[in-house]
Amino acid sequence: MSPAAQNLKSHEPAGLYIHVPFCRNKCPYCDFYSTSDLSLQSDFVEALMVEINLTADRIKAFDTIYFGGGTPSMLTTESLQRMLAAVRNKYNISPDPEITLEVNPGTVSANQLAAYRKMGFNRLNIGVQSFQAENLALLGRIHDVQQATDTILWARRAGFDNLGLDLIYALPDQTLQLWEKDLQQAANQGVEHLSCYTLTFESGTKMAQDLRQGRLRKPPEKLVADMMALTVDRLADCGYHRYEVSNFARSTALRSRHNQKYWSSAPYLGLGPSAHSWVEPERYWNKKDVAAYIADLGSDRLPIDGREQLERRQMITETVFLGLRRADGIDGARFADRFGVSVEALFGDAIRRFESEGYLTSGGGRIALTGRGMLLLDTIAAEFVGLIN
Ligand code: SF4
Repeated sequence: MSPAAQNLKSHEPAGLYIHVPFCRNKCPYCDFYSTSDLSLQSDFVEALMVEINLTADRIKAFDTIYFGGGTPSMLTTESLQRMLAAVRNKYNISPDPEITLEVNPGTVSANQLAAYRKMGFNRLNIGVQSFQAENLALLGRIHDVQQATDTILWARRAGFDNLGLDLIYALPDQTLQLWEKDLQQAANQGVEHLSCYTLTFESGTKMAQDLRQGRLRKPPEKLVADMMALTVDRLADCGYHRYEVSNFARSTALRSRHNQKYWSSAPYLGLGPSAHSWVEPERYWNKKDVAAYIADLGSDRLPIDGREQLERRQMITETVFLGLRRADGIDGARFADRFGVSVEALFGDAIRRFESEGYLTSGGGRIALTGRGMLLLDTIAAEFVGLIN
């Protein structure tokens, strides 16, 4: 283990991510690490306990905890309770932490949701994906529309006052009108947070294969851009502001505190198979194999698969790509503090050009893309990166 990995101390409170790698079925578009072989669930929980013990003094304090996956709600309520109790016991958790649990409709009951709230989860992210039966079928989801709306209702009754839904759009053959209907149905649920992702065809997935073999067609780029613009407009009408390319919240306080850490290069520790950890300048990641993960921890070995020390240029590149995703943009003071050079000194000409063309705004010590600029995020970020010396 490198010296940096042995002592990942940071003064900034970090985020803790726990990857639960089990799903009822594998969705055909998904490239997250998960398995539908559930036989290793209890061994996984035991291994996670060991990982928590082995990493207990690595980071000074956490103020967000996120159980993601996979489908964390596939585990028993008792397992989740044990995991959360171990986290609270072994790590230093700041007062008033955000503690999120991802759940998928079709894997949770009203009683389970009540138990999650009681054990201390205070934010729920629900993998709804769509309110249209045809879309759920295309996406290979295990739930129907009724199960999605029931889950939201039960979560409210359980006392969750911070609910987020995930939605997917830009599906093959989806029209602008159909997406608008889905968006409206999501907004009608009155949840605090919405994540709206475009469908991507990641290599190695069933859908990427279907695309290659002509069984599916991507929607035209112009339609996808129109859908994205519609998303921002409709959700603004319904009281949601966009704070990241794909993320919308009813207020600043209701933004995902955990996910904002990823976009601002704040430190985070990832536990579970395939989880990544980051404390500047080091990133490392766990094995993407639950059996290997269990075997390593069974021998008191951390299941680390690889690590990299980022050079200054790589860190600036990430800061630009991640920062420009956020409506708040890149924080000039933090940038200068980290890299010893101002945003203006590195990118001044490009900033002025994109600003005069209406793609970017600068002011208050930050540079941020406009709605038009967000449509060209990758192109603009790549131009900035080309200027790093
Ligand atoms: S439920 Fe989520 S993590 Fe599991 S396979 Fe489907 S998309 Fe992937």
